[in-house]
Amino acid sequence: MTEKPMFFAEEQDAPALDPSSQRWRILIIDDERDVHEATELAIGRERVCGRPIEFLHAYNALQASELLRTQHDIAVILLDVVMESESAGLELVRIIREELSIQASRIVLRTGQPGYAPELEAITRYEINDYKSKSELTRNKLVTSLTTAIRSYAQIRALEISKKGLETIIRASRALIYLHGYQEFANGLIIQLTGLLGVHEEGLVCAKRKEGHEGNAEEGFKVIAAAGKCHALIDQDLGQIDNPRLVNAIIEAAQSKQFTFSADYTCLYFEAPDQSELVVYLASGIEVAPELIPLLEMFSTNIAACMDNVALLERQHIFAYHDALCDLPNRLSFLQSIDDYLKRNTAGLVAVLIDIDHFSQLNDTLGTETGDEIIRAVGQRLKEQMGHHLCLARISGDSFGLLGLGSNLSPMLVKGVFEYPFCIGDHSHTLSITQGRAALMGQRSSADVLAQASMALKRAKLTLRGGSQEFHADLLKETENRVQLLQNLRRSFSEERLYMVYQPKIELTTGAVSGFEALMRWKREDGQFVPPLEFIPIAESSGMIVALGEWALRTALIEAVLLTKRLKQPITMAVNVSVVQFAHPGFRQVLSSALEAADATPDLLELEVTESVAMQDISKVRSQLEALRDLGIRISIDDFGTGFSSLTYLENLPVNALKIDKSFVDRLRETPPEDRIPETILHLGHVLKLEVIAEGVETEAQVHWLRNRNCQQAQGYFFSPPLTRDQLYHWLTDYQVADLFKQPPGDPL
Ligand code: C2E
Ligand code: MG
Ligand code: MG
Repeated sequence: MTEKPMFFAEEQDAPALDPSSQRWRILIIDDERDVHEATELAIGRERVCGRPIEFLHAYNALQASELLRTQHDIAVILLDVVMESESAGLELVRIIREELSIQASRIVLRTGQPGYAPELEAITRYEINDYKSKSELTRNKLVTSLTTAIRSYAQIRALEISKKGLETIIRASRALIYLHGYQEFANGLIIQLTGLLGVHEEGLVCAKRKEGHEGNAEEGFKVIAAAGKCHALIDQDLGQIDNPRLVNAIIEAAQSKQFTFSADYTCLYFEAPDQSELVVYLASGIEVAPELIPLLEMFSTNIAACMDNVALLERQHIFAYHDALCDLPNRLSFLQSIDDYLKRNTAGLVAVLIDIDHFSQLNDTLGTETGDEIIRAVGQRLKEQMGHHLCLARISGDSFGLLGLGSNLSPMLVKGVFEYPFCIGDHSHTLSITQGRAALMGQRSSADVLAQASMALKRAKLTLRGGSQEFHADLLKETENRVQLLQNLRRSFSEERLYMVYQPKIELTTGAVSGFEALMRWKREDGQFVPPLEFIPIAESSGMIVALGEWALRTALIEAVLLTKRLKQPITMAVNVSVVQFAHPGFRQVLSSALEAADATPDLLELEVTESVAMQDISKVRSQLEALRDLGIRISIDDFGTGFSSLTYLENLPVNALKIDKSFVDRLRETPPEDRIPETILHLGHVLKLEVIAEGVETEAQVHWLRNRNCQQAQGYFFSPPLTRDQLYHWLTDYQVADLFKQPPGDPL
């Protein structure tokens, strides 16, 4: 801390006084002109307590009170008791203390009438400091009396200044503690300092040591806030500034870590406990007074505490608004940017959400470390190619947000970023993305914008994977419908309005019933049927499929046991299992308890999983399927040929059967039949020693075709549609093996 004290401004907006002009101001109030002159003559040239004296004059109480309303800093009032009236002086004392609230000025009462004395009560009540008869006022006595009064006045003023200073410090600290970020803090500090020091903000510059720069102040310090003409210096390093006086002053303050005062400038140095440093430069010298040193120390300590707080807030801000993996703004920051743009009401802005397709599979297959590297590489590429005039953020896991003018963010441009593969280590990964987009115009909040963009993204992922979907009002309607449908489904499920139907599967060599596929049906309260292709995806995306699937499994297994008894032959009951169910950690437990509840043996059960199950983490899926096979449960791959499963996957998975999707079986009805795909699937089944089941078989010609190519099983309207329990029992009673099965399968047609 500097040896030199500093002057604190007494009033927020009073300019600092010029020390050379400081005089004690003495007000003489007396109706006798002679008294004024005599007093001036007696002590006019004296220096009291180191300063000269300045006189002010009033000749009656009224004049005095008017003068006192406009003139401040009056140290002593020499007051005649008897003026206009006998008590005019005392009445004026009351006005001074009570009406004008002047407490610091010392009052010396003088009276010409010997023997006249004011009441003791008045002296104590109004804090009259001395009482003298005019005859007593010899030069010496006057000087003594004035010296005592002035000393007392100076002490009172010092106390007042300290009190005001303390108040100002507390006010300043309170104002500064809420400021976020050093820049904002430095601006606040400048404003508060102008108040505290009673200086004009012109020429105030605040420089901060840059993070990690310990040595040379010229390189280490940077201007972060400046007022008035110095505004242009903001963001400049000290070394760049062409103002030697300013630069040298800051360097000196930074080196000495002390306040420096000179006739032409002042430098204040602040250091926080975390060692961040600020130097405030004032382009003028300021007055200092000794009694104010403790205040200055306290101010400095408070500023240090505030700076520490700023540092903490900055760190919190970084945590709250920054994504560490990609070194990008995060979701919260993205929302804030959207809000900023909404306030500016700029036309043509869009928010784009990007999601990497099948990222979770990549993550599962390659491991999270590689997954993280891919995300980082994507963030980096987006920053390089799209980051210039746009706002880019990582929103969550594998999704990124872009914000900017639609013309700079066309779906093609965004897609173009992913045109080339990403090289991670020795491998290159080709990625595709899906985009959801929402315009900012006319939106109320960032949350709305993001919700719309993610609604569009979800929709695109369902129907347009790899593409881009713009938000529009219909999407909202669709989402509302989906929500309503889901609520309806929940209610129907709890009210047991869902039921299972069963479609027979036929052994193609003999025409015998080999088993059944259980399919779910939902008849709404209003009697309408909702097709499974409509409600199953909704149940899947909401997770409700887990409960629905468990119920379907239990119901189908109970039915399977009854059918075995009735048919007196082993059959299989195929139950569809969606990816969500399959991936659920409790799935095995659900299976075991459903088998137990139905008292069914595992060989009764066949699970139909789609290729998307096989697309999950291959090693995990394989071990899951192996566990099921070890239990004795059969597995078939449903809708085979419509997904993307690679042959390697298939070869490695312990499955029993492939179901040729109906769309391929349908093509056999064309003339000439388009039969390459069913043919290939059958061949594949043969090579991999898997059974092949054809679904959606509707004509005799299809049965012939399949039979002649050794397709083992078929199901379809040709034999029977899915039937309720009662219908099925009737059907089974009536079922007769068609004549065509009486022939052995022949050569391909
Ligand atoms: P899927 O498993 O491929 O079921 C075959 C679909 O084809 C069934 O439709 C069935 O009614 C229909 N189908 C069978 N033969 C013919 C035919 O000859 N002609 C025609 N036009 N259609 C035929 P459905 O019952 O509407 O089920 C559709 C899909 O919903 C199912 O496809 C399955 O993926 C899913 N699903 C149905 N029930 C369940 C269930 O309990 N759980 C799960 N996870 N999914 C289910
Ligand atoms: Mg199926
Ligand atoms: Mg199918």
